[in-house]
This record gives sequence, C-alpha cells and structure tokens, in this order.
Amino acid sequence: MAGEQQADCLFCKIVAGEIPATIVRETDTTVAFRDINPHAPTHVLVIPKAHYPDAASLAAAEPGVAADVLREAGQVAIDEKIVDSGYRLVLNTGSGAGQTVFHAHAHVLGGRGLNWPPG
Ligand code: IMP
Repeated sequence: MAGEQQADCLFCKIVAGEIPATIVRETDTTVAFRDINPHAPTHVLVIPKAHYPDAASLAAAEPGVAADVLREAGQVAIDEKIVDSGYRLVLNTGSGAGQTVFHAHAHVLGGRGLNWPPG
C-alpha cells in the first residue's frame, strides 16, 4: 500500500535502523541524516518515514508530511547555521534529473557558494 515500508528500499532501511546513518534530526514523520557523499559542507537529506518514490507523490498522498519535510529542512538549515549565507533545497525527481534513490528526499545544501542555474 502507498506509504508502506519497502523491503528493497535503502532509505526505508535507514528509517528502520537496518543501515547506519548520521542522523541529525528525527520527528514522528521524518528523519534527517548526512549524505554519504556530500557535495557541500552541509549536505543533509530529509526524508519522510513513509515510503513514496518522490516528493510529488508524497505531497499528493500526504501533504502534511510533505510540509513536515520542508519544515525540517528549514530547521536543519538553522541548526547548521547556513541560513544567513543561503542554502539550497533540491528535490531531484526522475533518473533523468539525477534521482538515484526512489524514496522521497530533500537535499539541504549549504556552507559554500552555490551557482545558478544548477547543472
Ligand atoms: P538523489 O540522487 O537525489 O536520489 O540523492 C540520493 C542521495 O543519497 C545521494 O546524494 C547519495 O549520496 C545519498 N546516499 C546514498 N546512500 C546513502 C546512505 O547510505 N547514507 C546517506 N546518504 C546516502
């Protein structure tokens, strides 16, 4: 069923504690952890605990949890002290856009200059 944990999903395994991660924040509905291959001094992923393949399908099914993900991303930025310098939230959607893990996640990137437009 939509939202249920998937046995073959990497991020579901992180939620379940089956794969280690450096968790920086956790709520009833979300987990935030450091990206294993960081592209900036701060590179944190915020995910819903429920499994949805991307941010749009999460927002369609559980808009409140999608809002939780965005709120937590903002709190990560505060905790990491990257608000004043600016930071970027990224929602890669589809393999053509670079999505490699098909469990919804928001990248929080900051702590260095960020170019626009992204590649
Ligand atoms: P995507 O490319 O937008 O799907 O982002 C997936 C992200 O997950 C990439 O930035 C990966 O570096 C990151 N990642 C993959 N495996 C792990 C892990 O085990 N722990 C933390 N981050 C991971």
